[in-house]
Amino acid sequence: MSDAPKPAANPAAGSRAGMKKELPEHFKAYKHVWVFIEVERGQVHPVSFELLGEGRKLADKLGVELAGVVLGPPGEATRAAVAESFAYGADLAYLVEDPLLADYRNEPFSKGLTDLVNTYKPEILLLGATTLGRDLAGSVATTLLTGLTADCTELAVDADGSLAATRPTFGGSLLCTIYTLNFRPQMATIRPRVMAMPERTDKPVGRVITHPLGLVEADIVTKILSFLPDRDAGKSSLAYADVVVAGGMGLGAAENFQLVKTLAATLGAEFGCSRPVVQKGWMPAERQIGQTGKTIRPKLYIAAGISGAIQHRVGVEGADLIVAINTDRNAPIFDFAHVGLVTDAIRFLPALTEAFARRLS
Ligand code: FAD
Repeated sequence: MSDAPKPAANPAAGSRAGMKKELPEHFKAYKHVWVFIEVERGQVHPVSFELLGEGRKLADKLGVELAGVVLGPPGEATRAAVAESFAYGADLAYLVEDPLLADYRNEPFSKGLTDLVNTYKPEILLLGATTLGRDLAGSVATTLLTGLTADCTELAVDADGSLAATRPTFGGSLLCTIYTLNFRPQMATIRPRVMAMPERTDKPVGRVITHPLGLVEADIVTKILSFLPDRDAGKSSLAYADVVVAGGMGLGAAENFQLVKTLAATLGAEFGCSRPVVQKGWMPAERQIGQTGKTIRPKLYIAAGISGAIQHRVGVEGADLIVAINTDRNAPIFDFAHVGLVTDAIRFLPALTEAFARRLS
């Protein structure tokens, strides 16, 4: 509908009015952009590829190299993660291979990553804001005594080469840009799906720099006794779905969410909701979309009875096509939806489902 400007672009980013411009001489030793490649149970988390795409842009702007950092047990999965780093744009990879890195534990991963940073000195280090990435980034930044900007929505390089890391603040009502001016490396975490997935290429393998972990099992306090898979794992692939149908408070009652689920099932889509719906207990928390829920980037997003508050908007504005159904023509969602339908979602959703069912049958 409207071409209203997105709040993601922070006009203050890059200006740093009144801040110190001269960067200390010893910062020159810190070069290149690194992305931590998260591998869990043999699988690279897609956020790592999204960060390689973003890291590529930063590295090109700075005229430096982009590196993937892989820590894992010796074996095929770890080597495959290195190869995938190259396929998604890394020029080189840092590799720490050790049996102690078989399952994620904070101590060996923190040691491996801090040792790499202290030895090879990157200027920027990016990690996914996943459960693992958040745990690791916090302890690595603390050990290195450097700054960490969590849950960034935008990254840029300033005129003097500093990382401008933008993230929502004050409950999402404002965006702030944070600089790490006095310490290196500059660290940031970014949630899955906030950055676009880059194209996978058949780029030949680049340089691999191996580094020892230098730990024995007796040094590590945490022991893995058994692995209990997340009960909810695999139930929802909302973040990576191509089509998402979501409902908000406008649906009025828990039973009306069946309309959302039925449309989603007809389209082969995932379903989601706004935060108050979760707070009401109408939908489980893993279905929440927005700043404190999932960020999505589907090809099609259908939002029914959702007002489009900023905290919801930041989680959906990466969608290619946003279709909003709302009874209030002044609802904020119409400021950023591509197609707007001013109508009662409770009556419209069954008609839409029927129309799709007829077309798709
Ligand atoms: P409402 O704001 O109540 O809007 C309901 C909409 O439905 C209205 O626009 C109304 O016109 C429309 N409507 C009513 N009846 C019908 C009908 N029959 N058919 C069609 N339309 C109808 N929110 C999130 O979604 N995700 C988050 O991650 C999130 N994080 C937050 C974090 C913080 C720190 C804070 C402070 C808030 C957060 N919120 C989040 C809450 C957010 O501010 C809004 O309150 C919330 O998104 C509103 O949900 P809603 O649009 O479903 O409900």
